[in-house]
Amino acid sequence: MAFQDQRPQGGFQRQMFQGNWTCADCGAQITELPFKPAEDRPVYCRDCHQKHRVDRGNR
Ligand SMILES: [Zn+2]
Repeated sequence: MAFQDQRPQGGFQRQMFQGNWTCADCGAQITELPFKPAEDRPVYCRDCHQKHRVDRGNR
């Protein structure tokens, strides 16, 4: 049986924003973000972003 090469499945096309930022937490260089960063907000790398997300809601 031969597999026909059809169009790629999915439809999950993540838009990445290219730029040049520095992580406000660890200082890592960030060149790509899965979201559009706000200028008046600190930008975090992927690791720190998750950390900060987990940090929230601790009452
Ligand atoms: Zn970081």
